[in-house]
Amino acid sequence: MIILQPTSLCNLNCAYCYLPGRKSKNEMSLPVARAIAEGINHEWMESAPLELVWHGGESLAVGPTLFEELLTPFTALQHASLVQHVIQTNATLITNKSCELLLKHDIQVGVSLDGPSTLNQNRVDWQGKPALTRIMNGIAKLAEHRIDFDVIAVIDQTAIDGVEQILDFLATLHPRSIALNLEEREGANLHNGSPSPHEARTLWRDVFTWASRNRSIRIREVDRLLNYLAAPPPTTAADTPHDPLPTVAWNGDVIMLSPELLGMKSTQYSDFIAGNVLVEPLHRMLSRVYDLPYVQEFQTGVRRCKQTCDFFAFCQGGQAGNRFFEHGAFSTTETHHCHITIQALVTGFADLAETEGKIA
Ligand code: SF4
Repeated sequence: MIILQPTSLCNLNCAYCYLPGRKSKNEMSLPVARAIAEGINHEWMESAPLELVWHGGESLAVGPTLFEELLTPFTALQHASLVQHVIQTNATLITNKSCELLLKHDIQVGVSLDGPSTLNQNRVDWQGKPALTRIMNGIAKLAEHRIDFDVIAVIDQTAIDGVEQILDFLATLHPRSIALNLEEREGANLHNGSPSPHEARTLWRDVFTWASRNRSIRIREVDRLLNYLAAPPPTTAADTPHDPLPTVAWNGDVIMLSPELLGMKSTQYSDFIAGNVLVEPLHRMLSRVYDLPYVQEFQTGVRRCKQTCDFFAFCQGGQAGNRFFEHGAFSTTETHHCHITIQALVTGFADLAETEGKIA
């Protein structure tokens, strides 16, 4: 997967957003998009197309004309089924024209939406006005054009007790799947609404309960754990390289491991930039990714996880960004994110299995 930032700008100002500089209008140029396409190594796509995830700012804020121009360099790769475009959008700028573009380029759509009414209160514009009506209008446009979409909802502390209400509401929109992100402590997010481990454990138990009653709705985290439990005993190895997950910024700068590191500074690692696609092809940058000090330090952290954490086989070491934002280093192990998103998911499910006396 490659994450591409068509623009740093977002028309919304969600309370928990981690992206600094989202008020600035910096847009990707055609030469940057062309350099990304030319830097893709066809050997990366042995078994599945490479996902190109357009994730701003708000990707659709560039407007359909520029967005289509940025897609052009990838046309040959797409025709050869080597890449699949994906867009993550707040849905407020979806128009008939953008729907035509999504269909024409077979772009998979992910919509960011937290829930109904007050449960979506963190998603507001720069004037503080709720975005829900505009989001729902965008979703209605997608439905009008018969465009399938997935939903990502961010759950903060105030929404913990409302998770069933959130899932009931999201299910009425008929998404292909629902993903639940518990609010994290990272980047420019000063909201401080991350649930406690205890709250998260209860939440995940409630999610599994809901999922067992609504089996036709896919929930990403539920699937992840159930697929893991259904698989043959895992053969895990800490030295299995993590997906370097390059993020290419609007200006061609490349960050590895976590998109949340984009725009961040560290005394030890400066600005995390591994290179720029206008200077060096992406495949060459990726060939030396494990020489980068912060990537090496992250690998040390993952090895420590394997030695110390009972959840490693399921987790495989978590995300670099969470380690950095919580501990200022990549070589640490447990984070608050681990507690609420990995460990509480497992223990919440175990609680339910124990109460019910069976595994759903
Ligand atoms: S849950 Fe946390 S400490 Fe455990 S393996 Fe995952 S990242 Fe490491």
